[in-house]
Amino acid sequence: MASHEVPNNEKAVAAKRMKAKICLVGEAAVGKTSLIRRYVKDVFSDEYIATMGTKVTKKDVEILDDRYGHVQVNLIIWDIMGDKGFRELLREAFFQGAKAIMAVCDVTRSETLSEMRTWIQSVSKVAGTVPTQILANKIDLEQQMEFDENDVKRMSESYESGYLLTSAKTGENVEKAFVEIARAIVERKAGSTSTWDKQIPSMASYQPQEVARKV
Ligand code: GDP
Ligand code: MG
Repeated sequence: MASHEVPNNEKAVAAKRMKAKICLVGEAAVGKTSLIRRYVKDVFSDEYIATMGTKVTKKDVEILDDRYGHVQVNLIIWDIMGDKGFRELLREAFFQGAKAIMAVCDVTRSETLSEMRTWIQSVSKVAGTVPTQILANKIDLEQQMEFDENDVKRMSESYESGYLLTSAKTGENVEKAFVEIARAIVERKAGSTSTWDKQIPSMASYQPQEVARKV
């Protein structure tokens, strides 16, 4: 929450609240799970954690919106396993009700950039057109880059989405990515008629399974 500094005296002002499901999509091993871990726990591991099915994590972020003032967004972050078969199997459940997408590619593998199109289309078939943030991850591996910022920019323009170059390893732009997506959700809500949450219900208990695999 530090990213968007809200002075303590102003925090006393009751913030509006909303919860929002966001989905991270993208090919296997682009760094989806690592980005979430960096953001939520501020840690990084070189181990590849094969996410079995889906995993749900939540985190609150406070946004200062021009129109609504302080808004507390309870982000419900859905992580998915990248395998295509699994994607089809879980698609409906995974994308249903998503308020935004983070589409992640890996700057060291150019095919992960083009594959993002398929992912973004999969989500919009189920959730409609929602704010999309493109993340070109592993920017710390400068020497191994297979595409550059211009390619990412071009892709983002075709979806009218934002983009950021990130590194789950160094933390570069990771918090910003989540704050920006929360901001986009709040701005979008400004145009809708739905009311704010009075209370944020606790998330249904969910037992994720993780299998560590050394690479
Ligand atoms: P996922 O399949 O998309 O969830 O990918 P993971 O988060 O499991 O990451 C796959 C591999 O890439 C792991 O070995 C991570 O340690 C590594 N990785 C993830 N993000 C970065 C990054 O920003 N920089 C570097 N150098 N490695 C990363
Ligand atoms: Mg994963």
